[in-house]
Amino acid sequence: MIDIRFLGGCREVGRMGMLVDTGAEKFLWEYGINVENWGKPIKPEINFDGVFVSHAHLDHSGLLPQIYREGYEGMLYSDPTTIDLLSILLRDSLKIQKSECNDIDFFMEDIKHLERNASFLKAGETQDFTLSNVSFHNAGHIPGSVTTLLESRGKRVLFTGDIKFQGTQLMNGADTNFQNIDVLISESTYSYTNHPDRTVIENGLRKTVQRTIYGGGVCLIPAFAVGRTQEILLNLSDLGVPIYLDGMGVRATEAILRHAKSIKDYKKLSNAFSRAHKVTRGSERDRIIEKPCAIITTAGMLNGGPILSYLSKLHGREDCSLVMTGYQVPGTGGRNLMETGRFVSGEIDVRPRMRIEFLDFSAHTDHDHLIEFYKKVRPKKIVLVHGEKTEEFAKELNGMGFNAVAPKNGDTLRID
Ligand SMILES: [Zn+2]
Ligand SMILES: [Zn+2]
Repeated sequence: MIDIRFLGGCREVGRMGMLVDTGAEKFLWEYGINVENWGKPIKPEINFDGVFVSHAHLDHSGLLPQIYREGYEGMLYSDPTTIDLLSILLRDSLKIQKSECNDIDFFMEDIKHLERNASFLKAGETQDFTLSNVSFHNAGHIPGSVTTLLESRGKRVLFTGDIKFQGTQLMNGADTNFQNIDVLISESTYSYTNHPDRTVIENGLRKTVQRTIYGGGVCLIPAFAVGRTQEILLNLSDLGVPIYLDGMGVRATEAILRHAKSIKDYKKLSNAFSRAHKVTRGSERDRIIEKPCAIITTAGMLNGGPILSYLSKLHGREDCSLVMTGYQVPGTGGRNLMETGRFVSGEIDVRPRMRIEFLDFSAHTDHDHLIEFYKKVRPKKIVLVHGEKTEEFAKELNGMGFNAVAPKNGDTLRID
């Protein structure tokens, strides 16, 4: 028998965490935070035989240093790209925690402890334990992202992590060749909708950037540091317009470029990155916005970072534009702006007059591609996590002949 306890990330997007107990070994899969409200998963007992993380995004990884603070001495199995990116994201997260939170979950020494205990496992590689083995496979979501396959007691459990099946400018699509899967734990961020055609989205971005710049304005593109920044950069690289990179996306791109095989086309990203202007000091920002340009910067959901500085100066200019490029978690400045047209953050409270667009550059798959994947793999059971509408999706899947469930945080699934 295998028990999987869901610590977080059920019926929500954020704070993923699962405790996998094979009877002989205990594994922690993911241990993240809710990036908006610092929501945490249920705290497990610290006695694991291994900790696995599927990719660097903080909703999957943001609390991992706390495990070390609480006494875990074992390995963190992860793709090397993920560890490199985590080093950046966790340090930034610690900085924000220090400025925003009363109780801090971990300290620099814990991040360093995690880094020392990282054991690299790349897509296609397997780690053996006493009874079980765990292998990683390409997930196509961001550089370093993997799906995780556990084989134990004659059962095969596959966790998608965050997954994208279709290739993008940055990434090759996910591996889908899995057979005899007993339990598929599937992300379902976009279980309720399909993404628009990617080419239309890409052309839309290029057109908005060109139109804004030719009209004398500045095009602000808030983007997550890891994955989205590089995808947007690749999309704009051949336009021949001035592009600025500001914030954590610069260091994240440098880290990704240290792992040439983690992306589809190393040369293209390397060239695009070397052509882009990197903003190294906050004092440069006033000068940059004096001339037409595109600025790719953090935070992707407008909840902090240099984007706030740009927005506070440009919101009233009708010749400028703001292009949001990714999922906006409820409660974030970005989500509120999309829903109400009003942007509130700290001292800023405005109704921007600049053109605002949302272009769905998602690094997640969608409704139809999830179902296509389930039809191909034909798992005996589908467990839906990492989505706001998992119960509805489970119903739909059961109506199609699948055996799907949408657990709650704290539930345990027994596989026997
Ligand atoms: Zn992710
Ligand atoms: Zn995620």
